[in-house]
Amino acid sequence: MPVMRSILLAASQNKWLRENAVNYPFVRRSVSRFMPGESLDAAMEAARGLEQKKIASVFTNLGENVKDRAEALEVTGHYLEVLRRIHESGLNTEISVKLTQLGLDLSADFCFENLDRIITQEKKDAIVWVDMEASPYVDATLDIYKRALAKYPNAGICLQAYLYRTQKDVEGLLPMRPSIRLVKGAYKEPPEIAYPNKHAVDENYFALATATMAAQASGGCPRAAFGTHDVNLIRRLAEHAAHNGYPKNHFEVQMLYGIQREEQERLARDGYRSGVLVAYGTYWYPWFVRRLAERPANLWFMARNLFAA
Ligand SMILES: Cc1cc2nc3c(=O)[nH]c(=O)nc-3n(C[C@H](O)[C@H](O)[C@H](O)COP(=O)(O)OP(=O)(O)OC[C@H]3O[C@@H](n4cnc5c(N)ncnc54)[C@H](O)[C@@H]3O)c2cc1C
Repeated sequence: MPVMRSILLAASQNKWLRENAVNYPFVRRSVSRFMPGESLDAAMEAARGLEQKKIASVFTNLGENVKDRAEALEVTGHYLEVLRRIHESGLNTEISVKLTQLGLDLSADFCFENLDRIITQEKKDAIVWVDMEASPYVDATLDIYKRALAKYPNAGICLQAYLYRTQKDVEGLLPMRPSIRLVKGAYKEPPEIAYPNKHAVDENYFALATATMAAQASGGCPRAAFGTHDVNLIRRLAEHAAHNGYPKNHFEVQMLYGIQREEQERLARDGYRSGVLVAYGTYWYPWFVRRLAERPANLWFMARNLFAA
């Protein structure tokens, strides 16, 4: 793993930085590139703008590793309100949740109950996505996801191509008709469990993506979404889809707000399914530093903000 990425991923877990860095105006200015604001209203405003460009949205309220039942219940209540607001507005918006924000560190059953309350409020034709967190949570996340999927066909899961295990996880899930959002993976993982170099991650991504596309074509995967900004990979996958005669509007790419905007719009214009994950909330520090780690050149952008008026 390149040194800068490693340093930034370690910094994303630093408590002192989390509590202090967020107060610096230049850090706050920098984060605004990746999120439209801290409030749900800001996310909804962004979703309206995206929708005018035929781009769907997925909301996530930033937060993780909640240590207190009351806070997990509050997050659950917040997501119920978010769904109410989305349905009322008619926006083409789904939600994506982190299980450690719904109390996974406290109890798997408690976390499942919270997830259950959320999915039961969602429309049947919209997916509730479950994020994948760092490797110690993968088994617990998959267990809860499988429980949810057995009850709700519209539960979706994020899987990470950097993990060696993911191929087996996909094979294990496919008989249950999962919806899958495939990403490369955003956490600091050791080479014993994750591909250490980018080329290998990209190739594994391609192999997993083509397998999920085939499953989608045969009815075994209601939604296969590719959560990536990698334009070369997207082009290769789109070519693969065309070559196999898969319909364009089944090919779905989801990106993060503010990253590769032109590509998001191009995909929508060309008839593909284009979506953007819109994050909001006050607990943005670890999430933001993971974005810096994905592209250390973002540090220059942050440095420019340091010297901006
Ligand atoms: C919709 C969505 C949901 C996600 N959910 C999860 C999740 O649940 N769990 C998880 O572990 N990870 C998640 N991620 C993050 C993901 O794992 C990667 O860390 C992230 O997408 C960067 O990888 P990449 O596929 O874009 O490819 P990379 O090879 O990292 O990047 C390809 C190109 O994209 C651009 N790019 C990538 N990242 C950035 C950035 N931060 N700033 C500016 N440009 C950038 C650059 O031009 C780069 O050259 C999610 C990502 C997306 C888009």
